[in-house]
Amino acid sequence: MMTELINEFTSEPKIAYFSMEIGVRSDMPTYSGGLGILAGDTIKSAADLSLPIVAVTLLTKKGYFKQEIDLFGRQHEHPESWNPSDFMQMMPQRAIVKIEGRSVQVAPWLYVVQSAAGGKVPMLFLDTDLPENSEQDRGITHHLYGGDDIYRLKQEIVLGIGGYNLLEQIGFEIKKYHMNEGHSSLLTLQLLNKFKKNIEDVWDEKHIWDYKSVRRLCVFTTHTPVAAGHDKFSYDVVQQVMGTDIIPLNVIKEYGGNEHLNLTMLALNLSKYVNGVAKKHKEVSKDMFPGYEIHAVTNGVHSFTWTCEPMKRLFDKYLPGWANEPEIFVRVGRIPDEELWAAHMEAKKHLIDYLNRQTQTGMNYDTFTIGFARRATAYKRADLLFSNIDRLLQSAEGRVQIIYAGKAHPRDEHGKQLIEKIFEIKERLKDKIKIAYLNNYNMELSLKIVSGVDVWLNTPLRPLEASGTSGMKAAHNGVPNFSVLDGWWIEGHIEGYTGWAIGPSAETPADPSRDADDLYYKLDHIILPMFYENRHLWVRVMQNAIGKNAYYFNSHRMMRRYVTEAYIR
Ligand SMILES: *Cc1c(COP(=O)(O)O)cnc(C)c1O
Repeated sequence: MMTELINEFTSEPKIAYFSMEIGVRSDMPTYSGGLGILAGDTIKSAADLSLPIVAVTLLTKKGYFKQEIDLFGRQHEHPESWNPSDFMQMMPQRAIVKIEGRSVQVAPWLYVVQSAAGGKVPMLFLDTDLPENSEQDRGITHHLYGGDDIYRLKQEIVLGIGGYNLLEQIGFEIKKYHMNEGHSSLLTLQLLNKFKKNIEDVWDEKHIWDYKSVRRLCVFTTHTPVAAGHDKFSYDVVQQVMGTDIIPLNVIKEYGGNEHLNLTMLALNLSKYVNGVAKKHKEVSKDMFPGYEIHAVTNGVHSFTWTCEPMKRLFDKYLPGWANEPEIFVRVGRIPDEELWAAHMEAKKHLIDYLNRQTQTGMNYDTFTIGFARRATAYKRADLLFSNIDRLLQSAEGRVQIIYAGKAHPRDEHGKQLIEKIFEIKERLKDKIKIAYLNNYNMELSLKIVSGVDVWLNTPLRPLEASGTSGMKAAHNGVPNFSVLDGWWIEGHIEGYTGWAIGPSAETPADPSRDADDLYYKLDHIILPMFYENRHLWVRVMQNAIGKNAYYFNSHRMMRRYVTEAYIR
C-alpha cells in the first residue's frame, strides 16, 4: 500500500513546501496559529488544484499547548499529546542529522491530504522520538515553539536538514523548495553542498559555492514585520549544536550574517523569489531588508474549511462549485436576503448555545455580537475596546455582547496579562455588557466564532499585522470586518460596503491614540444603527463580505499566484 502510494507521489517532480508548523485538522495539534493554519490551507488548496506539492513539517507530538483559563483569567498550559498513528503511517526511511556531535535519527510519518476533487498531497511529519535516539533527542520534535534557543535550533536542523535528506532518500525529485518563514532555511546549506563545484574546475576557492543554482531552486515567504521576530543564533551556539560539517563557517556567515546566524537572512540571500503576505507587508519588508527584491502574494484561506455548515448548504444551493472555484462568489447576489440571514442566524445560535453551555454567560440570539479571537499578544490590542469604558457603555450597554478567545505564548507575560485584564473587565461589566472568553482557541472553535458573530473586530497596532487571516474566514461566512487598516484589510476594505475601518486611512501615519475614538464613533453612529434599524442594508454588507472579500481572499487564488509567480519561473 505504502510503496504504491509513494511511487505515485515520486513519479513526477514536486515543489517541496517546508513549514515549522502545519495545521490541517483541528484534532492534530501541529500548529499554534496563523502561520500553521495558513500552511494547512496552502496544502488543502494544492490538493484541490492537483498541484504537485509535498509538504515537510515537524510532528510536535505534544502539540503547542492546551489552554486552561482559571476563574481569575490566569492561563495554565498543558501538553496536548496526541497519537500520530490515528492519522498517519510511519515510513521506513531515516535521515541522520548531527546535533551536538551526536547522530540523531529522523523518521517521517506520511499523512495524505485528499481532496474531494481528486487531488492528493503527501505530507511528511518529522519525528525524532525513536528508541534509537537518546532521551533528550527524542524530545526534539515534542513541543511546537517550546524550549530555548538551543531547542529551537535543534528543531530547525531536523526540519531543514533532516527534511531535505528524507525527500532525497524517499526518491522525490524537487523542482522548488518553498520556505514558509525562515525556520526551514538550513535546507539551503544542503543545497549549497549539493551544487558545490570541484576546485579544479573553478580554480578559486570562492567560486566552488554555486549559490546561483541554489537561488534558482528556492522560494521564501516572510511573515514577520518586526526584526526581533526573526530567529537568530550566536555562532557559538551554531558551532556547538550544528557544527560546520556541512558547510564551512565562513560560507555560512557570508549568507546567514556575520554576527549571528539569521535564518531569515539565509533564506533571503539564497532565494530567487521572495514575498511578503500582503501588499503593505511587502513594503514593510523592503524597508526592513533594503536591497532585496520582495514581491507580494496576499494570503487567503481555504474556502471549504472555513465556511460553516449552514453557509455551505446555502452556497451549494445558489453557487454550486464555489468550494473549488471561489470566484463564483461574484454571483452572491443570487442568494435571497432572507436565506442569507437565516443561515447566519443558524450559525449564530450554534455559537451562542455552545458559549452558554461553556460559560453560563446567558447571551442571547438577537443582541449584536462582536467577535475577537486571535493570539493574545500586545500588538493585537485585545483591550482597545475597553480604552474608555464609559464611552463604550454609552453606546453598547444592553445592545452589544462580546466574545473573546485566544492563547498567549507561554513566555508572553504581557499576553497573559491581557487575558487577565479582559476577565477582570468581564466581571466588572457583567450586568451591563455580556462578555465571554472561550478556552483553548483552536481551528474548530475558530470556525464556530468567525461564523457565529455579527462583526469581526481586529485592532492591531499598525503595521504589525503582516496579513491576518481570521477576518477572511469571517468574510466567508458573511461576517463583515471592523478593523484597523493593516495587512489584508487594506486590500479588502471598502468603507460601509465590505465592512468598516478603524482609525486613519492606510496612506496616513498610524495614530494609535485615535483608534479607540474612531471605534466608538462608528459603533455608535453607523454599525449599531444599521444592524438594529436597517437590516436590509446590513445584509447587503454581509453579501459584499462574501462577494468581494471571500471572492478574493481565499487560498485557491493565493496558490494560483504562487504557481505563476514563484513556482514556474
Ligand atoms: C485563523 C486562525 C488564526 C490566525 O488568525 P489571525 O487573524 O491571523 O490572527 C490563529 N489561530 C487559529 C486557531 C485560527 O483559526
